[in-house]
Amino acid sequence: MDTLFLKAGREKSLQHRHPWVFSGAVERLKGEPQAGDTIIVRSASGGFLAHAAYSPASQIRARVWSFQESEAIDADFLRGRLVRAIAARQMLGADTDALRLVHSESDGLPGLIVDRYAETLVVQFLSAGAERWRDTLISLLVELTGCANMYERSDAEVRELEGLSPRKGILHGTLPMPLIIHEHGLKYQVDVEHGQKTGFYLDQRDNRKRIGELAADKDVLNCFCYSGGFSLSALAGGAKSVLSVDSSAEALQFAQDNLRLNHLPEDRAQWLEADVFKTLRNLRDQGKSFDLIVLDPPKFAPTAQHATKASRAYKDINLWALKLLRPGGLLATFSCSGGIGPELFQKIIGGAALDAHVDAHVVGHFSASADHPVSLHFPEGEYLKGLLIRRPA
Ligand code: SAH
Repeated sequence: MDTLFLKAGREKSLQHRHPWVFSGAVERLKGEPQAGDTIIVRSASGGFLAHAAYSPASQIRARVWSFQESEAIDADFLRGRLVRAIAARQMLGADTDALRLVHSESDGLPGLIVDRYAETLVVQFLSAGAERWRDTLISLLVELTGCANMYERSDAEVRELEGLSPRKGILHGTLPMPLIIHEHGLKYQVDVEHGQKTGFYLDQRDNRKRIGELAADKDVLNCFCYSGGFSLSALAGGAKSVLSVDSSAEALQFAQDNLRLNHLPEDRAQWLEADVFKTLRNLRDQGKSFDLIVLDPPKFAPTAQHATKASRAYKDINLWALKLLRPGGLLATFSCSGGIGPELFQKIIGGAALDAHVDAHVVGHFSASADHPVSLHFPEGEYLKGLLIRRPA
């Protein structure tokens, strides 16, 4: 069996069940494994640590499949992991037919993402190990979910880091057009082929519901609205007006189609194709203000190395949003950057409030929905965080 030996003293994180082996921890490799092959990881003294997938191109040189020596990594093993992940979602009882069924490392399947949109699965194979088992995983998913259709969206940038080229297309059945999902009483059309991520931000499901509950009779500003998730929730919750901003014309078109699909009041919705950084300043110049503002920007800091630049961007939009908030108003502000932890995020918002000369309190916290679980041994899985901020009346 091909074996990777760690440098002395570098076995700690694996003993704590963290599933990554970084290149800097590697002492030597015995054998000639190909990308994605299963290898055994051993400590410098030769003790068994894990079965893992080898990835020669990546700084994450191996990703753990199992910490149990007796376990063989084969189709039965993958079946067990998939069954467990799918069963965990059945416990959630969420009011939706769109769920993340497999959440990569957090479900013990590094590099595999599976989202279910009604009868269509959208899958991403994002690591050398997931890629190696692609055919097996496809047949198992068809069998275990009974879904008629499967579409591949392995075109995320992280594949490059694993030395894999992008790939997308139908794997099974067809792609329903339009593909419509139901969530908390609302319908959304999902663009699985061209949309962001696998087409929809499933991780914001519970937070969309919360915004709907807060929106009655409010003037709402939704920044980075994408296909309109928070905008529709706010309108369905009785918002007086919703101004939605995004730089993508396609996203705004989708959002407006979604509004009509739900027969929500079009006269209460305004759509603006623009840069949020500029728009917030313009709105301030125009003397506008709002009761409820949502800031859900794209990932400014994919890793900790981008944290400084990203912090400035987060501070900027939050500062201007706070200035646009009426006394007694609420700001729901998010970060989906893995490189910005919850403590740093709160510090950034604190700095923004200071510079905006606005008194503000944290009155709630947001996280990803429960179909995006966070393994206790893999804190990197907790990427989405949000704060509900209230400006005193
Ligand atoms: N809130 C959305 C998800 C936001 S994704 C939801 O719940 O579904 C981030 C969005 O920000 C994308 O739609 C992207 O087009 C948009 N975007 C990125 N940079 C932007 C900018 N500088 N100004 C406006 N929109 C931007």
